[in-house]
Amino acid sequence: MRNYSDYDKIITIFTDKFGKIDVLCNGARKTKSKVLHLTQQFCFGEYIISKGKDMYILNSGALNNSFQTLLTDYEKLMLGTYFLEFIDKSTEIESKNIYILALLLKTLYILESGVVNLKLLKVVFDFKLISLLGYTPQVIKCVICGNININNGLFSNEHGGIICSNCTNKKNLDNNEIKFFRIIRNIKLEELVKLNYDEKIIRKIEYLLKDYINYYLSIKLNTQDFINI
Ligand SMILES: [Zn+2]
Repeated sequence: MRNYSDYDKIITIFTDKFGKIDVLCNGARKTKSKVLHLTQQFCFGEYIISKGKDMYILNSGALNNSFQTLLTDYEKLMLGTYFLEFIDKSTEIESKNIYILALLLKTLYILESGVVNLKLLKVVFDFKLISLLGYTPQVIKCVICGNININNGLFSNEHGGIICSNCTNKKNLDNNEIKFFRIIRNIKLEELVKLNYDEKIIRKIEYLLKDYINYYLSIKLNTQDFINI
């Protein structure tokens, strides 16, 4: 969100119908504004928007969830902001993607509930989002020979997934790490609460995915540096 004039501001909304759009909020910076409560970070609701001459204009709306409890917990706030920044920087204006919106909403509800380890939530979000953007890492079979019985191997950015030990001498993944990669590929967010996990493996996969995301998207995520979970 950014200030537009003394009283107006422009916010970015991720919508189901149009994807990401910039919307002018007239008078949103006045204390008596009717739309102020709709323009805070994380707000989710139904927005009535009209198309102005140069841009969309917010007329009114109804909040479903403002997720404002995230603002009272620094770690959750940073992670929530990271989710928004990642989606903002990796999607195009007016490119509709209902699956990304669904991923964001589910992730924010879980983040707010506090029932899932935050590092685990971040790793799973990273994997799901990069997949929805069209760069699903191949973690089921070797990207060279198609072998699925992989005990250890190399996670290669260049090849887009795991290379088995028959096809390379290099190695950066053991059996448990490959298993974890496969679990987060297939798991639904709703099932995360039941997942047994190993902190060390999560950190390792997070590191590999961060590198993978940089390789394919070349975006700098500023909030990444503030996450300390
Ligand atoms: Zn192979």
